[in-house]
Order: sequence, then structure tokens, then C-alpha cells
Amino acid sequence: MSKVPSLTLNNGVAMPQLGFGVWQVPDDEAAKAVGAALEAGYRSIDTAAIYENEEGTGRAVAASGIAREELFITTKLWNGSSVTWTRDAVLREFDASLKKLGLDHVDLYLIHWPRAMREDYLTIWKTFTEIEQSGRAKAVGVSNFKAPQLSRVIEESGVVPAVNQVELHPQLQQAELRAFHAEHGIRTEAWSPLGQGKGLLEVPTVVAIAQKHGRTPAQVVLRWHLQTGNVVIPKSVTPSRIAENFDVFGFELDDEDMLAMAALDEGKRLGPDPDGFDWN
Ligand code: NAD
Repeated sequence: MSKVPSLTLNNGVAMPQLGFGVWQVPDDEAAKAVGAALEAGYRSIDTAAIYENEEGTGRAVAASGIAREELFITTKLWNGSSVTWTRDAVLREFDASLKKLGLDHVDLYLIHWPRAMREDYLTIWKTFTEIEQSGRAKAVGVSNFKAPQLSRVIEESGVVPAVNQVELHPQLQQAELRAFHAEHGIRTEAWSPLGQGKGLLEVPTVVAIAQKHGRTPAQVVLRWHLQTGNVVIPKSVTPSRIAENFDVFGFELDDEDMLAMAALDEGKRLGPDPDGFDWN
């Protein structure tokens, strides 16, 4: 049995709280990295159409021989072209992702960005709910949405996204958005959970807590996410780090550590602010 705890989504589906992300990993390398992650014990993988590594991810999944029901595979619709999204276009993209992954269903399908100024996320969302009903995605959710867009999709469709995957790490703790999620039964999934390895892992507070527990700064940050209630999907292509990032269930941060981590919030984004942000 996996040592990774699961969180129950608002439709009853169980999602591992720790998964493995593959952004910016070329297809062949992704196949190796996902293979190493599955070997290390991860069962949840986060890819996306725009990462162009769904095929490599799918190859690693197939080669692992792990039973499909033990795995939790997430991919995302790249809704960043200048296309005005229709139901047919969404279904076509979804089919293409399934084909590349070599799967007959995914566990979670996400709208990658709201592109809030275009408002076609509403059409996309309605099609997503249809995909969920068909069983080809066990759950559907969104990414990079803020409260106003979440409210709109809930009001217009009556279906609450299972997950909102957003940039979140100790230097961008997203307290307000997390409170909104909690109020509506949306799970918070943290992207760039390690702050992309840029600076966060050298912050003296993080280093000191790591020394106190005889752990690494990355493990401390991942523990903080788990104890905060986030789903977390760190990325690495280095097998030793892949294993290190999974080895976070043998210790706990105490109240003093959690308070010190809370003080690191500085609203620091590494990625774009979704407001006004349009991908083409
Ligand atoms: P991350 O915070 O997981 O950091 C990854 C980087 O941290 C690595 O490239 C490496 O340099 C370093 N690192 C990893 N493990 C380490 C360790 N143990 N010790 C020291 N350094 C270590 O960054 P990320 O890849 O941006 O985010 C994780 C995943 O989130 C992505 O792979 C992707 O799946 C997802 N994501 C989603 C979106 C979105 O718009 N939905 C955007 C960005 C990322």
C-alpha cells in the first residue's frame, strides 16, 4: 500500500497528496523521469498538452506494469491559442491527449489557464463536465483560476471544480484563495511547490528547520505543503532528488516550524499573474 495519503475530491475520487510534475521536461527525458518516479513510489503524475511530453509520460506508465487503478494521471487542456473554444474543439483536444498518453481515461483533466478576459472558459468548463460524466476523466478541475472565475463557473454550470492548481509555495501562500477553495470544496494543488528551486531552498528559516530535523530544505518545504493541506507535485529529473522529494513521510514540522514558515509569505510570484494574462 502507498504511504502517500489521499485527499478525497468533491466527487468522491481519491487523489494522492504527493505527485510528480513534468513541466519543461522533453518527451524522452520525461519518460525516464516518470519511470524513476514510479520506481520511487509516486503514483500521481502531472503533465499537460503544452508540455509536449504526454507520449513519454504514457510510455513510462505502460512500461511500469503498474495497474491502472493504482495510478492518478492528470493532464491539461492548452486553451492558449487564438481559437474561440467550442465543445467540439475541446473534445478533439481531449481525445488527442488520451491518445498520446495511451490511456482510455485520465484521473484529472484541468483547464490550464482561465484567459479570463475571453470568457470562453465557461464553454470549456461545460464540455469538461460532459467529459467527466462520460467517465473518460474521473474528475475535472481548473488551473490558475482566481475567485471571480471560480464563482462564474460554479454559478453557470452548477458544477464545482474538483481542484484548482495554482502557483503556491512558502513565498506565495495564497491564503485568500485557499480559504475560498475550502469554503467551496475545491482542493488546492500547488504548482512550483519548491519555488522552482530558485532561492526558496536557501532561505535561512527553511535551512534552519531542515538542520533541526536532519532533513533537506526541499523536504521541509514539501512537508509544509502536506501539513497545510495542499496537493503537491514537485519536479526533478535527478533520480536522487526524485527519491528525496518522495521521502517526506517520516517526520513532521512542529507548530513552531509551521509559524516560522507562515512568516515567509511575501506574495512573490515566479510565474505570471493570471489576471489579464492571455496565451497565444
Ligand atoms: P518546482 O517548484 O517543483 O521546482 C523544480 C526545480 O526545483 C527542479 O527543476 C530543480 O531545479 C529543483 N529541485 C527539485 N527537487 C529538488 C531537491 N530535492 N533539492 C534541490 N532542488 C530541487 O517547479 P515546477 O516544475 O515549476 O513545478 C512543479 C510542477 O507543477 C511542474 O512540473 C508542473 O507539473 C506543474 N506546473 C503547473 C503550472 C500550471 O500553470 N498549471 C505551471 C508550472 C508548473
